[in-house]
Amino acid sequence: MNIFEKDKEYIANTYARNQVEFTSGKGSLMYSAQGKEYIDMGSGIAVNSFGIADEEWLAAVTAQASQLQHTSNLYYTEPCVLLAEELCRRTGMKKVFFANSGAEANEGAIKAARAYAHQKYGDSSHSTIITLKGSFHGRTITTLSATGQDGYHTVFSPFTEGFVYADPDCPEELEKLVSEIPCCAIMLEIIRGEGGVCPVSQEFIDKVKFLARKYELLIIVDEVQTGNGRTGKLYSYMHFGLEPDIVTTAKGLAGGLPIGAVLLGEKTQFSLSAGMHGSTFGGNPVCCAAALSIIKRLDDKLMEQVIEKSEYIKARLNKVTAVTEISGLGLMLGIKCNKSNKEIAEYCLDNGLIVLTAKDKIRLLPALNIPFDLLEKAMDILCKAIEA
Ligand SMILES: *Cc1c(COP(=O)(O)O)cnc(C)c1O
Repeated sequence: MNIFEKDKEYIANTYARNQVEFTSGKGSLMYSAQGKEYIDMGSGIAVNSFGIADEEWLAAVTAQASQLQHTSNLYYTEPCVLLAEELCRRTGMKKVFFANSGAEANEGAIKAARAYAHQKYGDSSHSTIITLKGSFHGRTITTLSATGQDGYHTVFSPFTEGFVYADPDCPEELEKLVSEIPCCAIMLEIIRGEGGVCPVSQEFIDKVKFLARKYELLIIVDEVQTGNGRTGKLYSYMHFGLEPDIVTTAKGLAGGLPIGAVLLGEKTQFSLSAGMHGSTFGGNPVCCAAALSIIKRLDDKLMEQVIEKSEYIKARLNKVTAVTEISGLGLMLGIKCNKSNKEIAEYCLDNGLIVLTAKDKIRLLPALNIPFDLLEKAMDILCKAIEA
C-alpha cells in the first residue's frame, strides 16, 4: 500500500486530504515526497508563524528539548513562567493558563467565566455565554456548542447548555439578548476565520463594550487564529480599542508546536483556583520555549511588514476583475471570486501554491515573514488561478 492507501486504511475518516504528502520545507517553501516545490500561503492554518524549520525557532526548540522535554504541573519550570510574563507584559493581562490547543484554551475561558459568575452571584444563574453567529470555537462538545453555526450542532447531542448566538450585523439584537437572559460573558471571534474571514464592525464592538459595562458581562476574545501578529497587531482586539477580560490563543503561538493559552485579566485572574482546572501537557517546556522565541519577534517592525505584505496582496487582487470581495486584516485574508474557491485552490496546488479555503472564499494565512519575492510568485499563481 502507498501512503494514501495506508492513510485510508488506518486513519480515522475525519479529514478530506489533498493528494500531497509533504516531507520537508524551509521558510515558506515546502517539498512533497515527489520532490515538488510549493510556496506555502497557509502555514498549516496560521500555525507556522515563521515558516518551516526557521533557524531561531529551531534553536529554541532543540535547546529546550535536549535539556528537559516535560515534567508535570506538580513542579516549576522556567519557559512557561517566562512566556506567561511576556504575554502579560505585552497585553496588560494578569495571569495565564496554558493548554494544548485552541479548543482547550476556549474550554478554559468558558470555565473561568462561569467560575467568575458563580463566585459573584453565589449560584449558576448567570452561566450563559453569548457568542457570534458564524463563529468557530473548537471541536469539543462544549466548544462546538459555543460555535455559532447550526451545522456543527448535529449528531453529537446532547450539547453543553448555556450558549446563545448573536448576529454581529445586528447590534440591537445583542442588546435584546443580554437584557432578557442573565449572562456572564460575551465571547467574540473578531475575524471569524473558519466562518469565511468575516470581521465584525467597530460599531458592533462599541456596542459590546457598552453592553458589557451596563450588564456587568465579561468580554472573552477568541484569538486562536487572529492572534500572535497575524493581523498586524499582537492580538486583533488591539485594532478596536477593546479591553477584554479573557483572551484565548493557540495556533501560531508556538510556531508549529501544540499550545493553547488563556489570558486572564484583572477581574478574572482569581476565578480559577487550585484543583479547578489543569492539563497534563499544559505549559510544556518545549512548546513554551518555542512560543517565547516567537512572541519576542513580534515587534513593531515585523507588524509593519505584515501590513505592507497585506497591502501588496490586496493591490494585486484588486487588479483581478473576477475578485468580488477581499476581507480580513493583515495576513489573514479572505477572497471572494465569481469562480469556485475549490477549483482555484486545486489549480494553485497543481501549480505549486498552497492556499486555504473558508466557506466560499479563498483564505490566505502565509507565514508572517514570507519573503517578498516568494509572495510575488505566489500572487502570480493565485491571480492566474482566479483568472483561468
Ligand atoms: C482553529 C480554531 C479553534 C480551535 O483550535 P484547535 O487548536 O483546533 O482546537 C478555535 N477557535 C478559532 C477561532 C480557531 O480558528
